[in-house]
Amino acid sequence: MNEKLQNLLELVRRTAWQAGDLAADAVYGAGQMADDLLSSAKLRVRAATVEGDIKGKLTEVGEMVYATHTGNPTESEDLLAKLREIDELKAQLADINESLGRAPAAPVCPTCGAAVREEDAFCRECGGKL
Ligand SMILES: [Zn+2]
Repeated sequence: MNEKLQNLLELVRRTAWQAGDLAADAVYGAGQMADDLLSSAKLRVRAATVEGDIKGKLTEVGEMVYATHTGNPTESEDLLAKLREIDELKAQLADINESLGRAPAAPVCPTCGAAVREEDAFCRECGGKL
């Protein structure tokens, strides 16, 4: 693995680690300011929108890492900025879900919707790739 890619992956790992704590703090603070005026239907629409945004940004991160792998290095600051946007969105999503009284989403198979484990590479129900 080339050095630039290794550095980027290390950065992703470190940031994800730190983001766990930061997001927890943000959720705690934001949860106290939960907006009672919004109906839960509106919150659910908002949650779906934020989830879509997170997926889009995760795809962009994947493209940045892959571009580095193919000899088109992404600047670390650009990647870090993108990761922070994701942190922010994740904190928002956790806040919305807390307002809705939802537990954090358990992972499910994108093909059949069965519950799966974090460590699974394939669905135990339908065999789909996770
Ligand atoms: Zn499945």
